[in-house]
Amino acid sequence: MSNVLPYNIPLFDLNFSEEEEKAVVDTIKSRWISTGPRCEEFERLFSEMIACKYSVSLSNCTAALHLALEALGISKGDEIIAPSLTFVATINAIKYVHATPVFTDITSYNDLTMNPSHIEKLITPRTRAIIVMHYAGFPCDMERIMAIARNHNLKVIEDACHGPLSEYRGKKLGTIGDIGCFSFFSNKNISTGEGGMLVTDDEEIYIKTKLLRSHGMTTMSYERAGGHATRYDVIDLGYNYRMDDIRASIGIVQLTKQKEDLIRRSEIRKYYIEQLSDVDEIIIPFANHKGYVSNYIFPIVLRDSDFVKRDYIRKKLQEKGIQTSVHYPAVHQFSIYSDIKAELAKTEYIADNEITLPMYSKLTEDQIRYISNQLRDALI
Ligand SMILES: *Cc1c(COP(=O)(O)O)cnc(C)c1O
Repeated sequence: MSNVLPYNIPLFDLNFSEEEEKAVVDTIKSRWISTGPRCEEFERLFSEMIACKYSVSLSNCTAALHLALEALGISKGDEIIAPSLTFVATINAIKYVHATPVFTDITSYNDLTMNPSHIEKLITPRTRAIIVMHYAGFPCDMERIMAIARNHNLKVIEDACHGPLSEYRGKKLGTIGDIGCFSFFSNKNISTGEGGMLVTDDEEIYIKTKLLRSHGMTTMSYERAGGHATRYDVIDLGYNYRMDDIRASIGIVQLTKQKEDLIRRSEIRKYYIEQLSDVDEIIIPFANHKGYVSNYIFPIVLRDSDFVKRDYIRKKLQEKGIQTSVHYPAVHQFSIYSDIKAELAKTEYIADNEITLPMYSKLTEDQIRYISNQLRDALI
């Protein structure tokens, strides 16, 4: 087998062991590999983990965001306030339901989450919802955002892809707004290859999501195979957004590792900060954040820089075998969104000057020292 990781230190590495392999083999041997008992168990355990009423497993988080907007009845003419500093899927989902994205800037170079004051300024009579994104797993200012939403009768969807288990004032991210959306793409804290989860405390949203997940059919093949139902009706225009039991079985094992993974990630973050605290050329966002967070990624921001310098630093690190990334190119600067007017100076600075350093639980202190030294050298 060829080595698919060309870097000595990749940006991310799976927290997988024989347990995931065994779970997959056991599922295959069970002869039920599509949506079934393992999806149900994964949903139950996920609800327990984040303390919410309902979880619906899905094919990915993009599907979760799409169904969240549909379940809330968002459609053409509606405006949805969302960050530009996010993965493009957050915004594409808004377009799927023919609504209009309205982009918010971030708070500061230290706090890369949405600026609540800016959100408030963007509200019009057409605004129906806010999609928040908890960057790197650090919570948005949910107290202010929920207050704004209540005052203006807006729904709140949390794109919590970066933050499984992250907390905001004792509540898990994804459970503060009306709907939370999670991803289990291979490089997320919880990895199943592809996968997603929609969570809510609202029974109506839950029922609607389950319906739309599987073609708008009133029963699923798993229920029919179990003899619980023999007929079905189609009562809504749904999709095939189901997860399968093979992925769910990996997810079940992954959940058991999350607490330890999170502790390890916060140690790694602390060690990075120690190593980099004397580097004046960079800002470490959220450096003073004290809460319990997922640390999905470790972002740094170059001071007084531009994208030429940033790309040069990234290339230097690459030459030293260190894989880096950028979170994110600003969505409003992509061609397909260029017709939307947006003044987002801080977001644009981050898009040009952020570098994401490796972050995963198996990263060692030696590796962090090496990365920090190479970064320091590259900055000279
Ligand atoms: C990964 C990610 C998504 C998309 O998730 P998929 O499961 O790949 O569809 C959406 N938003 C954010 C912030 C993400 O990190």
